[in-house]
Amino acid sequence: MNRPDVGELRPPVRTLMGPGPSDVHPRVLRAMATPLVGHLDPAFVEMMDETQELLRYAFRTDNQWTIPVSGTGSASMEAAIGNLVEPGETMLVPTNGYFGGRMAEMARRAGGEVVEVDAPWGEPLDPAAVQEAFDEHQPDVFGFVHAETSTGVRQPSVPELTSIAHDHDAYVVADCVTSLGGVELEVDEWDVDVAYSGPQKCLSCPPGASPLTLNDRAMDKVLSREEPARSWYLDLSLLEGYWGDERAYHHTAPITNVYALREALRLVAEEGIEERWERHRRVAGALKAGVEAMGLEMNAADEYWLPSLNAVRVPAGAAAGAVIDDLLASYDLEIAGGLGDLAGEIFRIGCMGHSARPDNVSFLVSALGETLA
Ligand code: PLP
Repeated sequence: MNRPDVGELRPPVRTLMGPGPSDVHPRVLRAMATPLVGHLDPAFVEMMDETQELLRYAFRTDNQWTIPVSGTGSASMEAAIGNLVEPGETMLVPTNGYFGGRMAEMARRAGGEVVEVDAPWGEPLDPAAVQEAFDEHQPDVFGFVHAETSTGVRQPSVPELTSIAHDHDAYVVADCVTSLGGVELEVDEWDVDVAYSGPQKCLSCPPGASPLTLNDRAMDKVLSREEPARSWYLDLSLLEGYWGDERAYHHTAPITNVYALREALRLVAEEGIEERWERHRRVAGALKAGVEAMGLEMNAADEYWLPSLNAVRVPAGAAAGAVIDDLLASYDLEIAGGLGDLAGEIFRIGCMGHSARPDNVSFLVSALGETLA
């Protein structure tokens, strides 16, 4: 067999304004080039503590159970759902976007029954519909997507949703993949039992270690399951040995990804979480104003606008795929198209973390204008 002749790695330099990943801050890239230590090294154990403290700050929670799950956002998502939903229990999921469908699939694989609360793609959940679904189905777990990356919709009235669920003794799981670190999120104040996220969106960190937080009530449920979680790798009762007080081996943590997450979260703390939400609103607001001034229309109503993910309707006569390809080929600029019900109908333009900068917005608006002209 011939020896493969593969050249040195030279990835193109892109501007990442799609639905994630976003541009990684140079400090995060530098952190990833620092020497590896062992996953049980006392120096690493200290970094684990620091990462957990920083994560609590970003999630606005005092939850002791706040950890980076090894894997992408789907891993923290499956850790949340696969541990909380027990066989035979019912989970209520939303139909208003792509990721509610993924929640449903994970709940089924955990042995749960799935019931749905309906809202069209491009709209948030209506608390009255959630109330009705609770009265009808009495679910054990309720999942919703705080920032729906497929539609550019921010779910408002979260405290109303959590109080409906708690009045029915149910547990609330919030998908915060596209909101953590970019859009107002108050895990404790809003009484969210479990929230998960990914690092590659508003935290501007490469994928690989994904934030998860559970309050004591949710963790008590997980620790008193009759049957172990179906995934050994994501079983939180086992992960407790590593991320809890004991710090005993469960699996080899993705050390470099934890370095990266720690540095990305340090940047959040330096900026201040509220200031960071405000920057996303301001910079994405300029992006929104720019595309609207070009005559384009946002897909979500202003009340539900999601600064981190701007869903812009594809104008009549334009082919979404060709525009996206042209932006990448001619400008090294990444945006994305719609998924599911919105395939071919919208552009998805991210404005997340280190990508949420005024120079990126000017670049995006002029490149998109040129390409559509
Ligand atoms: N949930 C939402 C809202 C997302 O946007 C994504 C990814 O885009 C995920 C879950 C899954 O995350 P990952 O692709 O990192 O596994």
